[in-house]
Amino acid sequence: MMNSLADKTALITGASQGIGKGIACELAIAGANIVITYFDNPTDHENAESTIAQIQSLGGNAIAVPVDVTQETSIKQCVELTVSHFSGLDILINNAGVMQQTKGLHTLVEEFSRCHTININGTWRMAIACAPHLKACGEGRIINISSGAGRRGSADLPAYSASKAAMISLTQSLALALAPDNITVNTLCPGVIWTPMCETFARLMEGTDSESAVNREKFIQDIKEIIPLQRPQTAEDIGHAVVFFASSGAKNITGQALNIDGGINMN
Ligand code: NAP
Repeated sequence: MMNSLADKTALITGASQGIGKGIACELAIAGANIVITYFDNPTDHENAESTIAQIQSLGGNAIAVPVDVTQETSIKQCVELTVSHFSGLDILINNAGVMQQTKGLHTLVEEFSRCHTININGTWRMAIACAPHLKACGEGRIINISSGAGRRGSADLPAYSASKAAMISLTQSLALALAPDNITVNTLCPGVIWTPMCETFARLMEGTDSESAVNREKFIQDIKEIIPLQRPQTAEDIGHAVVFFASSGAKNITGQALNIDGGINMN
């Protein structure tokens, strides 16, 4: 699918690191102009700059713009900057998200609102702000990053899981509402990919705050054993699926949720 997205512009939230970075790189390889959004702090800014450098080394064209998906003003500025810099917007990837910080029946009720505010309300706000531009481009795309945790309940992660299940429903609602504008809306459900968020999850499971206490190799090995395809997942795996859903080959697909998890979930 080399250059299948030439002349398209894609905005990816939370793309300074992790899965968002993998998505941004694959979209750039497919020829799209890239807007990396990052949370406005020095670490995320530095990570965003290094993602831009990586995209440029792949021959891509990218800018970094700060956004907090919980803030209307921040979203408005980000979308305006995107549209003025690249003369439009074709593809929105709602990737920014948070994991809960407490576990199981100890989950604080505040975690439900935090996960909902960022993972769901943020997706809604971004979709509404981008929709007029996605309509104007004639064949708009929204791709939301849900999770395998949204496919079934989780005893460990009730707040996160509920927010990711809501994302599948929100994808369907947006798909119906935006179909008359020829904007497709789909969602991807990744399995487990080692990223900063996954590290938070691993620490939660091990009941520790200490970074050094998490044995990355052991965690990945344990996860591999529950994956039918028996291979560790990568952010690029998610990027490849995003490129497909963003392409014109996917123009008749909307309101769908696709598991990308090596066969863990088959619903
Ligand atoms: P990550 O590395 O933590 O990336 C998430 C990004 O979202 C971070 O850059 C984070 O910034 C940003 N963010 C958080 N709150 C934000 C806000 N209010 N406004 C704007 N940006 C905000 O995690 P990841 O693993 O790559 O996850 C990316 C997406 O994939 C998430 O939606 C996650 O739920 C989903 N997912 C991940 C996995 C996995 O195994 N990793 C599996 C299934 C689904 P800060 O770091 O500064 O907070």
